Amino acid sequence: MKKPLLQFTDRGIYCAAANVYLDPWKPVDKAIISHGHADHSRWGHKQYITHHRNVPIVKHRLGDISITGKEWGETFTINGVKFSLHPAGHIIGSSQIRVEHKGEVWVFTGDYKLEDDGLATPYETVKCHTFITECTFGLPAFLWEPQEQVINAINEWWASNKANGQTSVLFGYSLGKAQRLLRHLDPSIGKIYTHGAVENMTNVLRPLADFPETELIARDTKKEDIRGNIVIAPPSAHGSTWIRKMVPFVTASASGWMAFRGARRRRAIDKGFVLSDHCDWPGLLEAIRSTGAEKVICTHGYTEIFSKYLQELGYDASPLAPKGGTVQLGEEEEEIIAQTLAKDETTQLPSPVGRGAGGEGKEVNT
Ligand SMILES: [Zn+2]
Ligand SMILES: [Zn+2]
Repeated sequence: MKKPLLQFTDRGIYCAAANVYLDPWKPVDKAIISHGHADHSRWGHKQYITHHRNVPIVKHRLGDISITGKEWGETFTINGVKFSLHPAGHIIGSSQIRVEHKGEVWVFTGDYKLEDDGLATPYETVKCHTFITECTFGLPAFLWEPQEQVINAINEWWASNKANGQTSVLFGYSLGKAQRLLRHLDPSIGKIYTHGAVENMTNVLRPLADFPETELIARDTKKEDIRGNIVIAPPSAHGSTWIRKMVPFVTASASGWMAFRGARRRRAIDKGFVLSDHCDWPGLLEAIRSTGAEKVICTHGYTEIFSKYLQELGYDASPLAPKGGTVQLGEEEEEIIAQTLAKDETTQLPSPVGRGAGGEGKEVNT
């Protein structure tokens, strides 16, 4: 039997014909990187290849590394294997990685979503024989509302908090979600303040996109000045002493995992906005169908349930099975929570076929 074009090893997804890894999680010589989140762009590789919009992000995170930036659709050949990067729509500079060798085409999605968020280059369908897809939110309970609705609700929430003399503290992952929020917040409501992690990453991305003015909350920032305005902070800032400066405040989180009402309660967050940079259930199915792929390999989140469902639809589908090691994907807040919930609550969730999910999974915030 001939070797598959891409294999799953204890270092990551490996293309033996080119001697290249895709998003490896252990140090390798040559790595093609889908995007800047920590579980995809790890430290220690000798050479990094990624989309040029991801270069400043990876350099900001990893310092002085050897990195090459490519254009969308630009073909580069390594040992006769053709590679190209295509928009994944997940965050700025996020790519799907297309691999072609001897007439066979594989696509690795990295993380992705289909909706155009007005910031990341919109997702592009890439035809392939084998599709390696993430399925972080691969349950029918996950159905996203259009971004415009969610953003309107966020701006209304901010305006009403302001009318009540309260500060709005909105949590979003510092790379990706925070900038998506900044991009769409209505600065006519008030001033936008940021936590240091959000401010630093946004400054890295300012040359690539338009963002409203922000002000870093510093030691000398006055409590009275913040009042009634909005503060964008990473989820880790919740429960820290840093947040005391915002009193009186109300909190909200913008994430796909907010679809689980239990997740919001557990974290004592006042309001949840379901806004994800990953595909929802119909999005995953639509993406898979559009590729024309016969073979589908599922990574991240509900891989077992999701690949079983795909099998019932007639796909040759399987969860990612690494050789000689466990898969260590998922360092983004959304992914950690989704995976934790997958472990916690899969037992309560019936098969995704027809009946829909039970328990907390059924409650999608609207
Ligand atoms: Zn990601
Ligand atoms: Zn990821």
